[in-house]
Amino acid sequence: MKVLENHSLKKLNTFGIDAAAKYFVEFASIDNIKEILSERKFSTCNKLILGGGSNLLFTKNFDGIVLKNELKGIELLKEDADFYYVRTAAGEVWHEFVMHCIKNNYAGLENLSLIPGNVGASPMQNIGAYGAEIKDHFYELEAFHIGDKTIRTFNNSQCKFGYRESVFKRELKDQFIITSVTFKLLKNPKFNTSYGAIEKELEAMNIKEVNIQAISKAVCNIRRSKLPNPAEIGNAGSFFKNPEVVKGKYEFLKINYPTIVGYELENGNVKLAAGWLIEQSGWKGKTFGDAGVHKLQALVLVNYGNAKGNEIFDLSQKILESVKEKFGIELEREVNII
Ligand SMILES: Cc1cc2nc3c(=O)[nH]c(=O)nc-3n(C[C@H](O)[C@H](O)[C@H](O)COP(=O)(O)OP(=O)(O)OC[C@H]3O[C@@H](n4cnc5c(N)ncnc54)[C@H](O)[C@@H]3O)c2cc1C
Repeated sequence: MKVLENHSLKKLNTFGIDAAAKYFVEFASIDNIKEILSERKFSTCNKLILGGGSNLLFTKNFDGIVLKNELKGIELLKEDADFYYVRTAAGEVWHEFVMHCIKNNYAGLENLSLIPGNVGASPMQNIGAYGAEIKDHFYELEAFHIGDKTIRTFNNSQCKFGYRESVFKRELKDQFIITSVTFKLLKNPKFNTSYGAIEKELEAMNIKEVNIQAISKAVCNIRRSKLPNPAEIGNAGSFFKNPEVVKGKYEFLKINYPTIVGYELENGNVKLAAGWLIEQSGWKGKTFGDAGVHKLQALVLVNYGNAKGNEIFDLSQKILESVKEKFGIELEREVNII
């Protein structure tokens, strides 16, 4: 294991921000982690666990050690009448893991096809798309405690999953390195095509009998047509979360803005489309140097080339302020600001 100094992170974050890490190392085993942290210099400095870098915005160089996760391996732990229990190391690429499940007919993750990043980051914000979230099929995870260097197991409720939330983003922030995640996947699939776009795409694909392969393909087609590819334009997907408001506030807004996009939640509140609020505030397609708001997706901030992380951050701040002023709603960033 070689610890690199002043290492460029430009190719390791999907925004393509030109930041550097004071120290940088890749780990491929838990022993590797222990070895690095046994050096006082590294045990005492700031640490950043890096997966695919697809949910991060570097606003400055990282003054500490970046630990890049290269833990690999997928294993069918056990099965019973209804489920497969599949454990995957945290450094596996999420989409490749989903493809592995689909190939083996382990159902449940097909709606989450093509989300960038690694498996290890998936519980961090309970990744979700097209009517599904990992919490629906999450069984447990193992994580290395940076403080006492033990491995702990967290079940579904201990992770405190919520909308783009988990205990690892809140109370336990920066305390654990997630090393593996086990999913409980269905033997008899329950197809989730409730998102209108999936139904439409399946029709366009001329699918007569729905299966998990077709749903995954449909989701990939939709995502490719809607979202900017980070290999072409730097971005980290949705920059903000969709805000939740009480029903009264939604109804009040609807009087002045009849086309406002929102859907009612089980708790009676309404989730509003942050992209709609941003677009109505006039930001869609705006550019400031190389930083901008995507021309088709107002929720996606982009780096057209050499934008600095703090230029993108400043733009996000202006968007927050203008949405607050126009609608009285405080947006929250989904992307982790470093
Ligand atoms: C084009 C595009 C589309 C996207 N679409 C979606 C979507 O539909 N739904 C969705 O939920 N997200 C989406 N995202 C966001 C992103 O893909 C996910 O959040 C993904 O899980 C991030 O994985 P990563 O490995 O890249 O994490 P990173 O960006 O490397 O890290 C994200 C955070 O997790 C921490 N972390 C990473 N790995 C570990 C670990 N093993 N242990 C402890 N902490 C860790 C990091 O320190 C950081 O705080 C999208 C991003 C892009 C670029």
